[in-house]
Amino acid sequence: MIIVMKPNAAESSILAVTQYIEKNGLKSHLSKGEEVTIIGVVGDKSRISSENLIVYKDVDRIVPVTESYKLANKKFHPEATSVKVGNTVIGPDNLTIMAGPCAVETEEQLMTIARAVKSSGATILRGGAYKPRTSPYSFQGLEEEGLRYMRTAGQETGLSTICEVVSQEAIEAAVKYVDMIQIGARNMQNFILLKEAGRSGLPVLLKRGLCATIDEWLNAAEYIISEGNPDVVLCERGIRTYETSTRNTLDLSAVAVLKERTHLPVIVDPSHSTGAYKYVPPMAKAGVACGADGLMIEVHNDPAHALSDGPQSLTFEKFDKLTKELKPFCDVVGRSFE
Ligand code: PEP
Ligand code: MN
Repeated sequence: MIIVMKPNAAESSILAVTQYIEKNGLKSHLSKGEEVTIIGVVGDKSRISSENLIVYKDVDRIVPVTESYKLANKKFHPEATSVKVGNTVIGPDNLTIMAGPCAVETEEQLMTIARAVKSSGATILRGGAYKPRTSPYSFQGLEEEGLRYMRTAGQETGLSTICEVVSQEAIEAAVKYVDMIQIGARNMQNFILLKEAGRSGLPVLLKRGLCATIDEWLNAAEYIISEGNPDVVLCERGIRTYETSTRNTLDLSAVAVLKERTHLPVIVDPSHSTGAYKYVPPMAKAGVACGADGLMIEVHNDPAHALSDGPQSLTFEKFDKLTKELKPFCDVVGRSFE
C-alpha cells in the first residue's frame, strides 16, 4: 500500500506514520514531491491496519498497490528517477547513448572504438568482457583483462563504462574497473545474481529476458532495488516471437507501458533486437520517438571481422550519421542530447 500525505504535511506527521509502519516490522519508503509526500509500505501488510493509519494526522488517503513490485512501482515514486553513471546521468530529460563493441577484443580495438563513439556523442562505452554466447565454442570474452582495458579506455576518453556480469566473481571484478554493470537477457531471472547486483554498489542496467513479460522484468528490478540499490535502468532488447526476419522482435510498446508503471529510466537496444546493422538506425529513432531515455548500440571498427555480433554492428561512419539524425527526434520529444 501507499499512504498519501496531505499537501505540505508536517515532518512530525510523516515521522509518526513511518514509526507506526516500522514498529510493526515493515519497511517504509519515502517519496517527497514538491508538495505531497508518499509513504510506500513494503512487507507483510496483515501486520498493520488501514483503519489505524487513516486517523493519523495529515494522512490524506491510503491506496492499495496490487502489483507485486513495489519499489520499482511508479505509485511508490511518482517522479521519474535519474541514475548517475560515472560522470553522466541517465534520465529523465536527456538522451544517453551507450555504444561500443559487443566484445572487448584488444586494448587497441577498444581505444579506437571509444574515441570514435565519443566524438559522435556517446557518453557511455559498452564492451563485453564476459560473453554469454549461445555456443560454448564461440569467443567467451577476455574477462578481467577486458575489464582493465575498459577502465583504461574510460580514463583516456572521459567516457563512463558498462560491462555485463554473469557471476558473483564477475561482479567482484567489475566493481574495480567499470561504472555500471549489466545483467544480460539470459540472466534476467537469475535471482542470486540480481541480489548480488543489488549489493554491488554500482548502477545496474537490467536487460529484458528473451521471453520475459513486463511484470516479470519489473519483479527482477525489484530484486535489485530491494537489496538497497535504487540505481536500476531497464533495457528493451527485443523478445522472442515467431518472426524470423529479425533476430528478435523489438517491443517498443514496452517503453510506453514501462513509462506508465515505473519511475526507472528505460533504454532501447536496436542492435540485439534486430540483429542486422541496416535496421539499427530506424529502430533507434523509433526508440527515441516513443520515449526512451537512451540507446545501447553496438559499434565496431571492422564489423566483418568482429569476434561477436559483427552483422548487427555499425561502422564509425554509420554510427556518426545516426547520432546526427537522432537530434531532430530528440527535439520533438523535448530531450536534450549533448
Ligand atoms: C550484450 O549487450 O552484449 C548482450 C549479450 O545483450 P543481451 O543480453 O540483450 O543478449
Ligand atoms: Mn552483442
